[in-house]
Amino acid sequence: MRPFVYRRPGDARTALAELAAEPGAMYLGGGTNLVDLMRLGVLAPRTLVDVTRACSDAIEVRPDGGLWIGAGVRNADLAAHPAVRRRYPMLAQALLSGASGQIRNMATVAGNLLQRTRCAYFQDPSKPCNKARPGTGCPARAGDHRNLAILGYSDFCVATHPSDMAVALTALGAVVHVEGAAGPYTVRMPGLHRLPGDEPERDTVLEPGDLIIAVEIPALPYAACSRYRKVRDRASFAFTVVSVAAAVDKSGGTIRDCRIALGGVAPVPWRAERAEAELRGAPIAEASFRRAADAELTAARPLTENGFKVALVRNVVVRALLDLVGVS
Ligand SMILES: Cc1cc2nc3c(=O)[nH]c(=O)nc-3n(C[C@H](O)[C@H](O)[C@H](O)COP(=O)(O)OP(=O)(O)OC[C@H]3O[C@@H](n4cnc5c(N)ncnc54)[C@H](O)[C@@H]3O)c2cc1C
Ligand code: SF4
Repeated sequence: MRPFVYRRPGDARTALAELAAEPGAMYLGGGTNLVDLMRLGVLAPRTLVDVTRACSDAIEVRPDGGLWIGAGVRNADLAAHPAVRRRYPMLAQALLSGASGQIRNMATVAGNLLQRTRCAYFQDPSKPCNKARPGTGCPARAGDHRNLAILGYSDFCVATHPSDMAVALTALGAVVHVEGAAGPYTVRMPGLHRLPGDEPERDTVLEPGDLIIAVEIPALPYAACSRYRKVRDRASFAFTVVSVAAAVDKSGGTIRDCRIALGGVAPVPWRAERAEAELRGAPIAEASFRRAADAELTAARPLTENGFKVALVRNVVVRALLDLVGVS
């Protein structure tokens, strides 16, 4: 690892100023992704601005049941919070499905949202990769892409977004609060992450130096009936192959409203709006759930080695919805 300067400001404006003052500086949360990428030689920031003191680590429950979550809250603390477990179980389940206990104790909300893809070429500085080294090409398209995208990718990049938590936050329509050079602003998920287009090096809509200070979950009473289901290659400590975050509002024998987001299928956490539209007003039945999954999958364009994900998404969505409505 190359030498770097370490700073730890006590507030957000100082953090922004310190980042702006030093070319090549990066924010540091828990370091569980960034430090790995530095060790691998993918990133070489000259200064790390540790923001764990500048960003709040508090979780507030709003009177309407919504949540305000400081960007510095650790993944383990968020998953264990009673309001998260009771009102937004899909979020607690998504967090607990990720990484390991030790990593969740370190990882922060903001760092989790901004973690980079696990595409093997991205993590290997000796390989071409449009995301890590713009203009060098995308060897994954003809190479190892078994666990890469089937939706939303471009000729320039077929990577998937790795965060489980972001899938649940996308289903919940979370609002990301950002401190930018020109002042504070907000971004509603799924709008935080960008499809690659011809600029895969830009993962999000944030400008360089912008600091995430909080994530707000607007009240969604029926999210108490929600679930995160993840398929992975081994039972723990593995990134998603395919996942779904789903919440349903049942009324009599029909689905009145729902939220669905998918993980492991696209360069962004994927809000399944076509599936949601198909489900609203539909009878509670496996056939409705299958139709909803198929509606979303009409846009799928699997690569040569990952066609299995289409059937997997269909089955995982149907299974998660059956679980939610209590049909085994
Ligand atoms: C072995 C292993 C297995 C894993 N398995 C999973 C898994 O199954 N599912 C999953 O979802 N994740 C998994 N992870 C990833 C883990 O969840 C992330 O590494 C972690 O959430 C990143 O959080 P952090 O605070 O450590 O981020 P850091 O590594 O500190 O930072 C990540 C990025 O965020 C930026 N950043 C940090 N804070 C801010 C801020 N406030 N504003 C703006 N930018 C900021 C940094 O500059 C950096 O670019 C795994 C990690 C490892 C090492
Ligand atoms: S899929 Fe994206 S991250 Fe992977 S090699 Fe291609 S450009 Fe790089």
